[in-house]
Amino acid sequence: LIQLYQPLNMLGFAFREIRDGLVNMEKMFDLLQMPEEVADKPGAPPLAAGPGAVTFEHVNFRYEADRQILHDVSLAVPPGHTVAIVGPSGAGKSTISRILYRFYDVAGGRVRIDGQDIRDVTQKSLRAAIGIVPQDTVLFNDTVYYNIAYGRPGTTRDEVEEAARLARIHDFIVSLPKGYETMVGERGLKLSGGEKQRVAIARTILKNPRILLFDEATSALDTRTEQEILASLREVSRGRTTLVIAHRLSTVIDSDEIVVLMAGRVAERGSHAALLARNGVYADMWRRQQEAAAEAARKVEEPPSL
Ligand code: ATP
Repeated sequence: LIQLYQPLNMLGFAFREIRDGLVNMEKMFDLLQMPEEVADKPGAPPLAAGPGAVTFEHVNFRYEADRQILHDVSLAVPPGHTVAIVGPSGAGKSTISRILYRFYDVAGGRVRIDGQDIRDVTQKSLRAAIGIVPQDTVLFNDTVYYNIAYGRPGTTRDEVEEAARLARIHDFIVSLPKGYETMVGERGLKLSGGEKQRVAIARTILKNPRILLFDEATSALDTRTEQEILASLREVSRGRTTLVIAHRLSTVIDSDEIVVLMAGRVAERGSHAALLARNGVYADMWRRQQEAAAEAARKVEEPPSL
């Protein structure tokens, strides 16, 4: 029995990892043939081609019957625009990305892409239209090249390198002794969170989806890494409908719209400038993050005397 327990336990762990972290989910579903939370309607057509308009309309959601997580959330990301979701931990930001990728169905309201309710189309076509850069990308035990090229099977060497350049990871890769042939993953070179996220961005550039879901890593990044990730995010989101789940407000300044989520409700929305002028919860969060950054910079400038 114990021999059976261990693999089953691992499978349960892998399932939670995937659902919560949105990691390499298509591949993992294939490999482990895991049950999915939601099923295609019989005879559901694929998502029809379109410019990539995303709308959440009065969305209510609960993971468990007795606890509502999202309350009447509406938002619209017009084709090619970037909308950022910010808010305290537990507000429901990642839940929004899980619903868009249809790991779960809404309890009320609807989510549409180019007018089509995402429950009415095949999950395969839905997921093919969305590129996800998750918080923590799990890399395959293979070369860096494979890990990027996985974004589009049959891709060329030039395309892989170009994607890596746009994602600002090419220079790092060629500085490794084996370059693109370096083995990464659990049994190879361990990349930092920022490096892994840039590999994921390169992969997404190759996949060329019309919709991008960027789940910013919560871990603290040094200023340079953060700037590089922001630059590569700008690159991959150009011309694409982008939803950014942001933990640092520095990431969202340039967004077309910022949606502030508090306890599963939209508390405020607007551009960075408009929200600062409003002097509400966003302005408050912004001031606190600015103060924390200034404090951290001061500590670096004045190291404690020995
Ligand atoms: P953070 O900034 O910490 O990542 P978040 O705003 O992304 O937080 P979510 O991960 O969307 O928050 O979680 C919203 C709420 O839903 C939390 O209270 C969380 O405990 C709950 N929740 C998340 N995942 C599940 C789950 N699989 N089952 C039950 N409750 C969950």
